[in-house]
Amino acid sequence: MIDTLTPLSDEQREIQRLAREFATSEIAPFAGAWDKAEAADPAVRFKLGELGFLGMLLPTEYGGLGLDSLSYLLALEEIAAADASTAVLMSVHNSLPTRMILNHGSDTQKRHFLPRMATGEWLGAFALSEPDAGSDAAVLTTQAVRDGDHWVLNGTKSWVSNGNVAEVILAMARNDSATDRKGSRGISAFIITPDLPGFRVSKKEAKMGLRASPTVQLTFDGMRVPADRVLGEVGHGFVYAMQSLEAGRLGIAAQAVGIARAAVEQTIAYTRVRQQFRTPLAQFQAVQFKLADMATRLHGARAMLHATAAAKDRGEAVGPHAAMSKLMASEAAMWITTQAIQLFGGYGYVTDYPVERLFRDAKVTEIYEGASEIQRIVIGRALAAD
Ligand SMILES: Cc1cc2nc3c(=O)[nH]c(=O)nc-3n(C[C@H](O)[C@H](O)[C@H](O)COP(=O)(O)OP(=O)(O)OC[C@H]3O[C@@H](n4cnc5c(N)ncnc54)[C@H](O)[C@@H]3O)c2cc1C
Repeated sequence: MIDTLTPLSDEQREIQRLAREFATSEIAPFAGAWDKAEAADPAVRFKLGELGFLGMLLPTEYGGLGLDSLSYLLALEEIAAADASTAVLMSVHNSLPTRMILNHGSDTQKRHFLPRMATGEWLGAFALSEPDAGSDAAVLTTQAVRDGDHWVLNGTKSWVSNGNVAEVILAMARNDSATDRKGSRGISAFIITPDLPGFRVSKKEAKMGLRASPTVQLTFDGMRVPADRVLGEVGHGFVYAMQSLEAGRLGIAAQAVGIARAAVEQTIAYTRVRQQFRTPLAQFQAVQFKLADMATRLHGARAMLHATAAAKDRGEAVGPHAAMSKLMASEAAMWITTQAIQLFGGYGYVTDYPVERLFRDAKVTEIYEGASEIQRIVIGRALAAD
């Protein structure tokens, strides 16, 4: 009843089944404890790697599964339905750093980094945001200055998911000079590894939700980066990051759909057994109306996401549709988890049931990888253009 209506190939069904089985047995039973401990079991990342889930979009020549976007998003929904924190690890790794290296890296960079990233031996992170550069990331100030066969980086990157556990971090920094600023064309992408001198994890955020996913601030203090760690062309890093964020938006939409699905499933199960006035809650029409609205928004969000992924897999440009998918799914997840809390009553407000965690986890999907307002800007601009 709440599964996808999208026609799936045998291979896509198999990926979905594999992900559901893994998420149900290896993630869901522990998600509440990881949330409380503010740390997931470090082994989960290697298990995801063994399944191939950290190289889903990478070609087989780099050790990936070479799958289409829809297969990846089906798997991501399953992982997110069990634990949104594990889903963000998988989403950031697959959508951002591995994609950027695949699309713009040199042969040497691809051969060095991608096979190890595909297995999860090396986890990827993405460092674009800064304390004063969020929605308007092009104003970032981390400075890169060329010094012989190195670049020297100084600055602070904020909100880096998995930045304290990642082995490979794609960091954006300005290569233009203070006297000749080139805007978004003065930013390059650097492949950072934590062993570089001058690299430091300077703060770990205490968060409302996604607590098992570490979010950290990184400080680069005269960090010396070998010149062969520049990704693609100098000055093109911002464009590469924006291109990757388009794929990232679909990942966050899948994460939101997974959170929303878990909330719908748990609310249906709860209202079927919880009795008041000697009647199961689910028998009251007012409750059925809420369940109907929750399921309808879930299906709408997932249908939009899958249609966009299918179009992307056909090679079509999906910029505004990717923004619509993220906007619709994240707002659906927030609305659905809010209704879930209401239908659980007092039990929804305490930590006895997972809906409380789902509600906290849902909120960030409206904020990161482009807040809802930014998605509306992207969609609105496309509508207003000729
Ligand atoms: C848990 C978490 C994990 C994250 N992980 C990463 C990561 O791995 N890598 C990374 O680089 N970043 C990451 N981020 C950062 C995230 O992408 C930013 O928080 C996001 O882009 C918003 O930036 P900001 O927080 O600075 O908000 P601001 O840009 O200050 O925006 C504040 C509010 O103003 C609104 N706003 C801004 N501009 C406009 C406008 N023109 N019109 C209307 N409204 C506007 C925004 O939509 C938002 O509601 C993460 C954030 C969180 C919370």
